[in-house]
Amino acid sequence: MIICPHTTPAGSLKFAPDIILITGDAYVDHPSFGVAVIARVLENAGFSVALIDQPDFINPASVQIYGEPNLFFGITGGNVDSMLNRFTSFMKIRNDDPFSAGGVPRNRPERAVITYSNLVRSFSKKPIVLGGIEASMRRFAHFDFVSQKIRRSIIEDSRAEILVYGMGEKPVVQIARRLKSGEVLDGIEGTVVIRPSPPEEAFELLSEEEAMACADSYEKFFMQLYTGQSGVLVQRAANRYLVQYPRPGYSGAEMDSFFALPYSRKVLAQYGDSVPAFEMIKNSITSHRGCVSGCAFCSIAMHQGRAVVSRSEESICREVLEIAQAAEFKGHITDIGGATANMYGTGCAAEWRCSRTECLFPAICPNLRLDTRRWLALLAHAKSLSPQIHHVTIGSGIRFDIFMKDFAEGLKDFVINHVSGIVKTAPEHFAAPVLDAMRKKHLYSFEEFVSRVKKISPSTPVLPYLMSNHPGCSIEQMRDMSAKLRQLLGYLPKQVQSFIPLPLTVSSVMYMTGRNPFTGEKIFVERTKEGRLRQHECFFGSPDADTHKNRSRGDTGNIAKKRRR
Ligand code: SF4
Repeated sequence: MIICPHTTPAGSLKFAPDIILITGDAYVDHPSFGVAVIARVLENAGFSVALIDQPDFINPASVQIYGEPNLFFGITGGNVDSMLNRFTSFMKIRNDDPFSAGGVPRNRPERAVITYSNLVRSFSKKPIVLGGIEASMRRFAHFDFVSQKIRRSIIEDSRAEILVYGMGEKPVVQIARRLKSGEVLDGIEGTVVIRPSPPEEAFELLSEEEAMACADSYEKFFMQLYTGQSGVLVQRAANRYLVQYPRPGYSGAEMDSFFALPYSRKVLAQYGDSVPAFEMIKNSITSHRGCVSGCAFCSIAMHQGRAVVSRSEESICREVLEIAQAAEFKGHITDIGGATANMYGTGCAAEWRCSRTECLFPAICPNLRLDTRRWLALLAHAKSLSPQIHHVTIGSGIRFDIFMKDFAEGLKDFVINHVSGIVKTAPEHFAAPVLDAMRKKHLYSFEEFVSRVKKISPSTPVLPYLMSNHPGCSIEQMRDMSAKLRQLLGYLPKQVQSFIPLPLTVSSVMYMTGRNPFTGEKIFVERTKEGRLRQHECFFGSPDADTHKNRSRGDTGNIAKKRRR
């Protein structure tokens, strides 16, 4: 049982839990919520776990309700970086939070990881372990889009003992076991620590001071980090050293075991109103992790990594049946996918070990093994599992070009059987220089794709997710894109997100330097508020009108949709 304040109030717990987890999200006991997975994995490994969700961040007592844990405090900002959760691309404060009960905003602080750590440090010297995407993508010096500055590693600002980056199941159990047996927290795969001296045989990055000195030296540091992720990395920070140990590998069987844990798959009854992000995913299933796309603006490559790890069909089907047996199930499985749904089953003939930074750019790697057939067979099988299941559709979108490249013959089956009214895909842009900057080349013609979908089902629209303001993108290219799409689709799509230079992404480096870090080529970057608004207006009219409406139209990155990242 996971202890939480909603079921076990302050003072009623008669023992100290081994671990206390603190999260910026409302607690939902579901495998799409990272902290729930970590809590269940620790519980399964034999540790007692208490979970404090959305503590009152101006009241230190809110994190003291269970006193000190035996082993450590685990702190996460939640499923989304707290600054992205708070601010739109146009620096407006968002007026809702899909990861809070009732969608109510302001239940989590800005820079949640640091704030919660300070609350803990105000009363306890127990080790602090950071995890989740906010910690992961701020583990080294990074560009912070809200302050428009380079900030130092979050592990220093939060005075934590260790930071888990990427997927945390294996490192967090290792950390708990080491603390229990009194061992040091060093050398654990998938972690960053601060040491007084550098380890032997590590690649030394530019120092933190140099990385933070100016945009040019930040670029040098970033490229060392981005291209050297497979080894031990060390960076001097004042008189200490940040050390990153390579991420651990995960097998499909291990993924299966994490999803087989006894989640209740429910929002706590005390919340009354539901959590919007949970409503979106409660009948959907994560089939795999990782993404081979390597898009420059996206966090996944530096967070989850590109290696795709897929669950077995048996494990996924067990979860489908579990959902179908719930009393409130209405017959619709709304997604079986991951960051890109049709990457399920993707493999690499070189076992993901190579010196390339992307698998699909500038051309598809010959070692890549796509398996669209297997994914479509899985969807069909899932639908056949029970008469209660009427539809199995894909809500998260597909990468249309690799679908067509791998198995164009399967498009009819997909459109007829697995689309819920609209084919969603994310070409992002159509101008070649912008796509080059995004490191995203279309491997198949979008026009041809739309035409083939129309032939199969004239009444099924194709909805492209697009991006404005990415480095390399000008107002003329946005106007051309809107004219082209109006003509091609017969309407103007509204799913346009305005680029945000997220921490530790390639695009954030381009945004800072006005240069492609791979080629050195200068690129235009629209940084003015007026110019950014103008690019957006090509699809929306006035984006100033209403933050929430623009948000639901993708203005700010559709943060709930990024739940698995
Ligand atoms: S060998 Fe090819 S498919 Fe494998 S990781 Fe490298 S780029 Fe990707």
